[in-house]
Amino acid sequence: MITVMGSLNIDLVTITDRFPTPGETIRGSGFSTVFGGKGANQAVAAARLGGQVKMVGKVGDDLYGESYIQHLKAENINVTRVSKESDYPTGTAAITVAEGDNQIIVVSGANGAVSKTYVNESLKDLEKGVLLVQLEVPDESVEEAMTIAKAQGMTVILNPAPFKPIPAEWWALADYITPNEHEAAALKADQNFKDEYKVKLVITYGSRGAAFIENGVETLIPAPEVEAVDTTGAGDTFNGALAVFLDKGFELRQAVEKAVQAASLSVTAAGAQGGMPYLKDLR
Ligand code: ATP
Repeated sequence: MITVMGSLNIDLVTITDRFPTPGETIRGSGFSTVFGGKGANQAVAAARLGGQVKMVGKVGDDLYGESYIQHLKAENINVTRVSKESDYPTGTAAITVAEGDNQIIVVSGANGAVSKTYVNESLKDLEKGVLLVQLEVPDESVEEAMTIAKAQGMTVILNPAPFKPIPAEWWALADYITPNEHEAAALKADQNFKDEYKVKLVITYGSRGAAFIENGVETLIPAPEVEAVDTTGAGDTFNGALAVFLDKGFELRQAVEKAVQAASLSVTAAGAQGGMPYLKDLR
């Protein structure tokens, strides 16, 4: 069983020729609504790869919230702990794409209401397996989830994204920490970092693959060469996949190999969740 505690966001993407100036109204040429948020993305990745997944998080009591819950159900994800919060909207990212660039406004909304109390209630009946968390919900809730899971002997994976320095105590709570190469450099440069923590790092290197530490040596699992169409969600696919294969009892090396394979497949199609592979695609 994989429990993913984290964010659910709706991306509202508008395509236009140029960015409007303050006070100006312009015409756009396209619009799409896309399911996102690192938590839910990783949950979908894990479910598609055959994981038994439970999502813990919050949406608003609005149209987006309901449609996200229906979407996760259709992906075979347990949504009994995805609650609708009436005081907040569903988390959104309003993205404007123009002039070969983008502007993004993120409103964390209900994700910010994933409180320590809520985590406590939600993880009461936690089953053995893997807990997977990221940093798009409040820090104290991430810490609470890891503390509960660790106490129950679960495997804890912390994906430190979007990046911020992590408290010293978190290194003891997580079994694996999964930064990309930039996040890894920042973690290693942090004053809280100790050499002994290195064994917990599983680092992704984009098109080069991902690495883990074995006998004190960083071992790179190279990514297969693929035609990259859209790398959005590659990291989320990697994390979801890593959780699945560790949950299935694979050794770290084999789990990283599978995760690299899944993440690399995900970049060959558009969209974060849109490109996430199914178990049959890995075979
Ligand atoms: P993102 O923020 O875009 O989701 P990330 O920065 O968290 O990604 P990356 O290190 O870029 O994570 O990529 C994660 C994994 O995805 C890599 O380990 C690799 O397996 C796969 N991947 C990413 N980009 C490519 C690529 N161009 N070709 C093949 N595989 C890729």
